[in-house]
Amino acid sequence: MDSTFSEPFRRIFRLNGLDRLAVGPAVARFRHLTVLLTEANARFNLTAIRDLPGIIARHYADSLLAEPLFPRRARVLDIGCGGGFPCLPLALARPDLRITALDSTQKKLDFVQHAAEALELKHFRTICARAESRTLRELYEEFDVVTGRAVARLNILAELAMPFLRTGGLLIAYKGAQGSEELAEAAHALQVLGGGEAQDLPMRLVLPPECQTAPPAKVPAAAQGGGAKAPATGEGRAATAENSAAQEGTEAPGAAEATESRHILVIPKERPTPPQYPRAYAAILKQPL
Ligand code: SAM
Repeated sequence: MDSTFSEPFRRIFRLNGLDRLAVGPAVARFRHLTVLLTEANARFNLTAIRDLPGIIARHYADSLLAEPLFPRRARVLDIGCGGGFPCLPLALARPDLRITALDSTQKKLDFVQHAAEALELKHFRTICARAESRTLRELYEEFDVVTGRAVARLNILAELAMPFLRTGGLLIAYKGAQGSEELAEAAHALQVLGGGEAQDLPMRLVLPPECQTAPPAKVPAAAQGGGAKAPATGEGRAATAENSAAQEGTEAPGAAEATESRHILVIPKERPTPPQYPRAYAAILKQPL
């Protein structure tokens, strides 16, 4: 195995307590994904994070911080998966999961589909659509877990996500340093949409010395409102963790390793979501719950 990949991969996973996922064929499979990602990035702007340690830490390790929360064989919907995060690392680390990757951008989903085929991922499919599109109605209540990383603030993400969850299912939202504030802001939305008592799990993403420079910031889109805090891909990138946490949450600059603040928000669905949700996106933005 090429040590230019396996050494940083094992080291960064170990730093993040993910050693258990950096064993055996997993290393070669993540290396394969990295080759595919790098090739795609040479053709179009799939992800702003292009350096190897950055990809391993900010995409792979970050996507897997929540891995133990996914029940065995869960049916998972990843809303706004972009270039495949967190869904592709989850699929590699947890072949038991049955993953549907959803995004409204065809080009990104073409990459995710290509990667899934090249990596021979079983139980993995892609759907190109807007999450609020009524054409997806047949998928309502079909999932055990819905995830979203760097898609929208929680009150908006919840309106997109909750209809897809079965009662008893979990919305797992990947958030950055502002996660607790987003959770407080979304209290009304979660109550209206059928959510139960949320768990706010604070985490630290550990960055090795060679990836402590924050990627370039981009102006947040209105819907993302600076609340989508996880590292994100491509042109839709909001005020993401790599930017915001670099400003607010990164600690120990100059030390051997730095850490960035993350919040994994886990919201159980307790009641059916009222049928008027999700509304059209313009209405969601105009009057967020
Ligand atoms: N989750 C990925 C990550 O963390 O790298 C991508 C994040 S990117 C900033 C946000 C993605 O959400 C974009 O690919 C965009 O196309 C998608 N998106 C935003 N709103 C959406 C919606 N209503 N339905 C489907 N996809 C949406």
